[in-house]
Amino acid sequence: MNDCIFCKIASGEIPCMKVYEDNRTLAFMDIAKDVDGHILVVPKKHFKNVLDCDEETLYAVMKTVKTVSNHLTEQCGYDGVNLLNASDESAGQSVPHLHIHIIPRKRNDGIDAWPRFEGAREDIQTVFEKVKM
Ligand code: AMP
Ligand code: ZN
Repeated sequence: MNDCIFCKIASGEIPCMKVYEDNRTLAFMDIAKDVDGHILVVPKKHFKNVLDCDEETLYAVMKTVKTVSNHLTEQCGYDGVNLLNASDESAGQSVPHLHIHIIPRKRNDGIDAWPRFEGAREDIQTVFEKVKM
């Protein structure tokens, strides 16, 4: 994907604050400045999101998510992490290259990283019949 910003970061064409790298994946600071330690983990190969990503690449991404998360909690003074992903524009995805957000957390840090849902609109049994596999 020539015009993909995260492909350009992965290839080094655009600079990033690199936190971790291996053969298949890259972790770098999110530039949003919205919360301390906001990190993105991406595959170096282009996939739009979780829905089109092959399992091997997804495994590599999640392995890096774990490596970075363990580093944050074991070496950097954090207690936990929120992991966030938007797959598709309908879910709020703004950059169309697969990425997992890591939000480092400390006990009682006051950060609200969990969506406030407004309540289910459909009957749970009806939805269950639709989604069960
Ligand atoms: P999403 O809305 O889940 O697709 O998240 C996209 C994220 O990419 C946002 O949090 C942006 O702040 C972040 N972002 C966009 N451009 C860059 C960039 N050049 N370097 C680091 N993070 C970026
Ligand atoms: Zn890309």
